[in-house]
Amino acid sequence: MANLKIALAGNPNSGKTTLFNALTGSTAHVGNWPGVTVDKKEGVCKKGKTPVDIIDLPGIYSLSPYTPEEVIARNYLLDERPDCIINIVDATNFERNLYLTTQLLEVDIPLVVALNMTDILEKDGDDIDEKALEDKIGVPVVEISALREKNIGLLINRAIESAEKKREATSVLKNTSVYGAIENAEIAFKLREVVSPLFHAVKLVEKDGIEVKNHPHEAQAAEEFMQKNAKDSPFGGDTEAEIADARYKYITTHFSPTLKRARKKKQGELTKSDKADRVLTHRVAGLPIFLLILFTVFHVTFSENFLYLGSIIPSFGEWCASESENVFKAIFFSADGLNSPGAILFYLMDTITVTIGEGLASVMDGASEWALQLVVDGVWGGVSAVLSFMPQILVLFLCFSILEDTGYMARVAFILDRLLRRFGVSGRAFMPMIMGFGCSIPAMANTRTLADEKERTATIRVIPFFSCGAKLPILTAISGGIVMSFGMGNAEVITYSMYLLGMIAAVLSLLIMRNTSMRGETPPFIMELPIYRRPGFRNLMLHLWEKLKHYVEKAFTIILVSCIVIWFLSSFGWDWKMVDDMSQSILASLGKLLQPIFTPLGFGSQLGKWGWIFVVAAITGLIAKENVIATFASLAACLPGLAGFEGTEEGIQEVVFMISATGITIPGLISFIAFNMTTVPCFAAVATARGEVGQGKFKWTLIFWLVSSYLVGTIVYAFGSAFGGATWAIIASVCLLAVAVLLTIGIVWYGKKGSLKGMFKGRK
Ligand code: GDP
Ligand code: MG
Repeated sequence: MANLKIALAGNPNSGKTTLFNALTGSTAHVGNWPGVTVDKKEGVCKKGKTPVDIIDLPGIYSLSPYTPEEVIARNYLLDERPDCIINIVDATNFERNLYLTTQLLEVDIPLVVALNMTDILEKDGDDIDEKALEDKIGVPVVEISALREKNIGLLINRAIESAEKKREATSVLKNTSVYGAIENAEIAFKLREVVSPLFHAVKLVEKDGIEVKNHPHEAQAAEEFMQKNAKDSPFGGDTEAEIADARYKYITTHFSPTLKRARKKKQGELTKSDKADRVLTHRVAGLPIFLLILFTVFHVTFSENFLYLGSIIPSFGEWCASESENVFKAIFFSADGLNSPGAILFYLMDTITVTIGEGLASVMDGASEWALQLVVDGVWGGVSAVLSFMPQILVLFLCFSILEDTGYMARVAFILDRLLRRFGVSGRAFMPMIMGFGCSIPAMANTRTLADEKERTATIRVIPFFSCGAKLPILTAISGGIVMSFGMGNAEVITYSMYLLGMIAAVLSLLIMRNTSMRGETPPFIMELPIYRRPGFRNLMLHLWEKLKHYVEKAFTIILVSCIVIWFLSSFGWDWKMVDDMSQSILASLGKLLQPIFTPLGFGSQLGKWGWIFVVAAITGLIAKENVIATFASLAACLPGLAGFEGTEEGIQEVVFMISATGITIPGLISFIAFNMTTVPCFAAVATARGEVGQGKFKWTLIFWLVSSYLVGTIVYAFGSAFGGATWAIIASVCLLAVAVLLTIGIVWYGKKGSLKGMFKGRK
């Protein structure tokens, strides 16, 4: 016998995914913002008396067809008919959450209400009398905490018990003026043996779009019926509003009294979240605060002068700068000061990978030269360079997870919405974009929450500009290499500026697209800001673990195979004999063919003999972005004339080799980063984009990526070369930022004054 099917339905951010993970032991993405779960997810729960299938539906406020999520959830419930619905209700916001419950009652499927977040409720000293609530609603009510896994077994067992019985649909609209019309429609549906007649009847009377289309005849009858009593209704025939009002009235009179608050909230009293929002989402200060928080994140991840202690305390700085062979000192301190947590982990990992590399070499002592080259330089060189960046990726990812879990990222979407809405970019689009910092693939899938098809396509196109985890090694290794080779700058500032550059490029291209080829509706951004919460430790660790697993897996599969192929192509000539000089290899001849194309970007023909390595690295990056640095690592070790070169860290060291072998300039290097950040993403992301963008838009999406990366690279290089000088990186980043900010403010100002009316036609 097949397992019982139990669906989880509830408002966005009520804890459905947390509950789903607790029930099924899986690790689906949980985020403290509405709209993270777009698709339905399935898993098996073995915590009850029998195993059951659990389906996590997207978060919804109602069963009306206003958003894609609502349509997905509604169709699932009506067409697939699960054996039971668990309606998860955020107990800290229970009146608003019960609005959906009143609609679920109208579907004749067994229902269990799970009152979630009761840990917060208890902490506040509030209490819900669940027995009383159970009597009022007429279905089982279980108090749980999904996060603390409290009463999970009880909940699932009550759901299994309920699933074994039938449930009559009921409606809280019974004693209202619209019920006559509903009853009539219900009878008509019953006669025609329509499933869930009460639900359809209510929707029909609400004049719900889908329902009226499917049952035009009954809709006509209901309309006539409603006309008769429209005269004495204060809603003037707007039955949808009338029904919504009736639902809320019912909730406040019948359900609300079961909640006992420890302390009566005074009128207009601000909660802690409200107070925090006064500052964090402030009209003027909101954006700078976001940029500052972002910088702090980068400081924690990359800085080699943590908290600027080395600069603040001169004697400490001197001590740090003094030579030392001590391994401990090398890991915890840099020449400038204390290492940040991210940097400490990076050096730790680096020490480990270098030791393994040396071990490999000594184990293979006596093996033939080519075998040594293949294993130590080609394969382990590439794989370990990628692995050594893993700690920093994890730290960065942890920071973003914390920001997301506390509820702050939802505020960022809100801040940006306020700034950019009038130009056709809604805050909703920023959620998938910010998800793109992790990986473009789930981020692209998340764009399904965008109702406007054109906004969705435009968003998918710019998601790769939000530098994903796999691109981090490119940024870190090259900025590290710049600092090493040119003895200037600050790796953390360069990295931060590059992330900003990606974001600015994304916003600007989005603005341009939304006002030219991808013009369309900007639907209202309705998002309730979740309250600020302390992030759940388990949740954070789950996220990290997933990321770690994925990254290591990738390093030992795709990256490893790519390194072997690259080694092979760079060691053999077209005559299938091993070459002495790598510049005679197959790979070199292919790279040289394309090299001239990149001349305007600063890493083309001007680099001479070894310049093709940059080209090859950019191309292998299409397979996986980690390959860019893996390619450097595999190939730079074979550059002649570098024997005896005192190296630094893996990854960075090879960039230093490349710089000295090619004579590439700082602008050329920055342009190389910028190009990689804005060009065609990895194949997996391309495949996702192909599935997600609208018909006929895929080709243009590819062209968009090629053109934008070429343009951004050229601009950066031209700009940089014009400025020249060693301090360029910082100056140019600041300039670019300033220009972008001024531009945005300028556009906003003009937009307000209406002088650009023609350009932004028809938009408020
Ligand atoms: P969904 O949008 O309904 O899938 O909600 P999520 O599962 O993503 O959870 C939203 C937020 O609520 C996350 O920050 C969770 O950590 C938090 N959360 C979920 N359940 C509980 C709970 O029982 N107690 C507390 N304190 N927080 C919870
Ligand atoms: Mg979810």
